[in-house]
Amino acid sequence: KSVVAIVGRPNVGKSTIFNRLVGERISIVEDIPGVTRDRIYSQAEWLTKTFNVIDTGGIEIGDEPLLIQMRQQAEVAIDEADVIIFMLNGKEGITAADEEVAKLLFKSNKPVVLAVNKIDNPEMRDEIYEYYSLGFGQPFPISGAHGLGLGDLLDEVVKHFPQEELEEIDEETIYFSLIGRPNVGKSSLVNALLNEERVIVSEIEGTTRDAIDTKLHKDDQDYVIIDTAGMRKRGKVYEATEKYSVLRALRAIERSDVVLVLIDAETGIREQDKKIAGYAHDAGRAIVIVVNKWDTVEANEKSMKEFEEKVRAHFQFLDYAPVVFLSAKTKKRLHTLLPSVKVASENHAKRIPTNVLNDVIMDAIAMNPTPTVKGRRLKVLYATQVAVKPPSFVVFVNEPELMHFSYQRFLENKIRDAFGFVGTPIKIFARKR
Ligand code: GDP
Repeated sequence: KSVVAIVGRPNVGKSTIFNRLVGERISIVEDIPGVTRDRIYSQAEWLTKTFNVIDTGGIEIGDEPLLIQMRQQAEVAIDEADVIIFMLNGKEGITAADEEVAKLLFKSNKPVVLAVNKIDNPEMRDEIYEYYSLGFGQPFPISGAHGLGLGDLLDEVVKHFPQEELEEIDEETIYFSLIGRPNVGKSSLVNALLNEERVIVSEIEGTTRDAIDTKLHKDDQDYVIIDTAGMRKRGKVYEATEKYSVLRALRAIERSDVVLVLIDAETGIREQDKKIAGYAHDAGRAIVIVVNKWDTVEANEKSMKEFEEKVRAHFQFLDYAPVVFLSAKTKKRLHTLLPSVKVASENHAKRIPTNVLNDVIMDAIAMNPTPTVKGRRLKVLYATQVAVKPPSFVVFVNEPELMHFSYQRFLENKIRDAFGFVGTPIKIFARKR
């Protein structure tokens, strides 16, 4: 999928445009409130083309001077995007910072489309000609506040999309990625897996930009480890900024069936772990929680149980994810990892026949009658699975408003009890029949 990055000074309206591009989609996808709220990366659609948008403004909020921030944003955009939307404030004209960014973008040879924002009425359109001087061709007047001009802008943006690099996705192969704080042991774990006995390894070079995916075969199963770029390549200046590594993680998550959320047994669970895990959960991927560096803990049944309780308390939203304890360093218990990944992946793609599903739903309703709100009772007519990855179910009812959150949760639990969706989130939507 093509990637579009929005670059520009603070307050030119990047987030407004970003939200306009992706907003509708977010509200459709998220019937259930997400764990993570700050969006810097999301999907958008124009003319039947789906693409990803990055709001580089969300990447670095540090107290760096403006010019340095702008340069970092431009670098991220150049690095990550196929097309860059360079946004300017039509009310302020071209500033020194704009010129600085323009120079960087110009040198990169990436397609750049100029958007001049805050052109709220047609009379102002004459004022955009000065922007030709930046050397990126025709400037497009837009108004984020009123949603004007976006169509023309996007027409121009999609013209620059590269030929779809068709990534061959093999349904039999399990794609997984590793995410977690710096130093949690992601690289070590990848290397440990690759050096495991009876594992056959091959690199898939240049799968997407500078990512290097690795294919491995173990116990009759093909896996691809998706490189969270920066895991194998180190030393880029902006690698250190947290939001930038989040962006990288998000891109890896997007391509994964299963996401391994790594936790450091030595330093314990941190707030940042929760945030990282939240991204994988919101994306609806299968998840395995991996407690690494288990060699540093006096490992026994009791310590494992205690640590798992801590994990459960911290990651309540991941109650479906199995927890694997291992050491990438000593390779102790390493052999338990891939089987867990496989189970999670199978559950993520599992289909339940409609008749079997409805037997379970009807039994559940018989056991715990549907709620009544203001004298009206929820009636469940039937349910059907509408998607996999993750398994998603639509329950047809008389009035969707009567489907209380707690009752939906009850149905979800019954579905889980019956079909054992270990390792995968499931989604349930109530729809009017
Ligand atoms: P990354 O930043 O998540 O890729 O983390 P690295 O793989 O670079 O590991 C960070 C540090 O933790 C290195 O010094 C590793 O040697 C160490 N480390 C990784 N896995 C283990 C483990 O299982 N046990 C111990 N004791 N140290 C580990």
